[in-house]
Amino acid sequence: MIEMTLKLFNTWSKKKEIFKPIKPGKVGYYSCGPTVYSSSHLGHAVTYIRTDMLKQFLKKWKGFAVKHVQNITDFGHMTSDADEGIDKIKKAMERERKTAEEITKFYTEDFHRAMKKLKVEPPDVEPKASENVDAMIETIKKIIENGYAYVKDGTVYFDVSKYKDYGKLSGKNMKEQEEQQRVKDPNKKNPNDFVLWAKHKPGHSHVWNSPWGKGMPGWHIECSTMSRKYLGGDFDIHSGGVDHYFPHHENEIAQNYGAFGTIGANYWVHFGLLSINGEKMSKSKGNFITIDAALEKFSPEEIRMWTFSSHYKSTLDYSEDNLRKAKEKLDKINKFIQRLLEIAEPSEKIESDIAKKYHKKFEAAMDDDLNTPQALAVLFDLITEVNKKIENRSLTKKEAADILSLLKKIDSVFKIMNFEKEIIKIPEDVKKLIEEREKARAEKNWEKADEIRDKIRKMGYLLEDSEQGVRCKKIKQ
Ligand code: AMP
Ligand code: ZN
Repeated sequence: MIEMTLKLFNTWSKKKEIFKPIKPGKVGYYSCGPTVYSSSHLGHAVTYIRTDMLKQFLKKWKGFAVKHVQNITDFGHMTSDADEGIDKIKKAMERERKTAEEITKFYTEDFHRAMKKLKVEPPDVEPKASENVDAMIETIKKIIENGYAYVKDGTVYFDVSKYKDYGKLSGKNMKEQEEQQRVKDPNKKNPNDFVLWAKHKPGHSHVWNSPWGKGMPGWHIECSTMSRKYLGGDFDIHSGGVDHYFPHHENEIAQNYGAFGTIGANYWVHFGLLSINGEKMSKSKGNFITIDAALEKFSPEEIRMWTFSSHYKSTLDYSEDNLRKAKEKLDKINKFIQRLLEIAEPSEKIESDIAKKYHKKFEAAMDDDLNTPQALAVLFDLITEVNKKIENRSLTKKEAADILSLLKKIDSVFKIMNFEKEIIKIPEDVKKLIEEREKARAEKNWEKADEIRDKIRKMGYLLEDSEQGVRCKKIKQ
């Protein structure tokens, strides 16, 4: 039995709730994937690193069997850009003089490559929107049959007046929202009605046949359809950035209700956005730093560490200074690991009190709505306490082994640490001196042995005599 101690903030209820899965021991998880018309940027990195953190915590710490589905949006959708007549993929086709397939293939591969570099585990299923249009048509038919949608001149609209909870997720004032509608569509019954199926226009990247004529699905219907299709019904967690509160997830929920009578997912989790100079980093604004460009300056571990330094719900502002601070923190952790590796190897089972204490503290921080800054604070407290124990020689080998094992478990979620034993190259002349010193020690010529040790220290190496023999370390500058 998995103990239910994890609390997640559910945007639907606006409360932190104890996470209880639909099926014991299993989690169905759907996250919104990218629209593939431009290079992935650091905002995507932040969102998918957080997605991975949530998923790995469920798997590695809580022991759930997680089925993770994440879509690829590979046709232009009906956003405000599309209202101007040209969807985003069509714009990319014109910009790069390529076909829709070439554009979406190229940027899907770009996304995959970036995620791999960032150590983000791929989803179990990654459906492409363009390959699921038939299923989307079926969902739209159900919504019409259930009386939540209407057809006008080849376009299908969702009738928001039929869904009493419309606006609950985003908390938006729908009257104000009505007034903000930039383009008044005379075919709509209510200004907030949104498109389920869009009648074909020359500015669309794709076209399919449907019972309502040629056209393409609206954006939100793909997630309602593919989440249910690949997770087999209602599921546990749905995530995305807070930019998806509205309209994407608000509309997805309305569609789910119209088609299937439920809101689809039990927990709606939203990640804060990455901003740059106070503005959301976005493809359409053009103010983005691609993941590749960021990786030229910072390592994947540094980017991950920087992401976890703030809570997933908060806005993260791009700052090279903060990324550099992440590097300092990583150096501290990795130096600590090296120190422990000189004493022991990771143990099979965490049994000693000190490791158990920090295991509990780390889990408690993560259980509290994935409080990664708090979890990192626990990690640094652990380092401080254990370093003191090493200095006053009270750390046992078993404790060191257990702490290494705990660090590995923490790293199964964070993926920021380096457990490779540093191999130091000892120069030949130092090696010779070590041999000479060993000889002097064997002859019990302590004075000579100490002299050689001092000579070696001046050459930048430190000798430590231990039960396992003499150890030679490079003195860090
Ligand atoms: P998109 O490719 O814009 O459809 O977005 C794919 C995912 O990345 C969604 O979950 C978005 O919320 C998220 N996303 C887009 N821009 C940002 C950003 N600046 N910061 C964090 N997440 C973002
Ligand atoms: Zn989505």
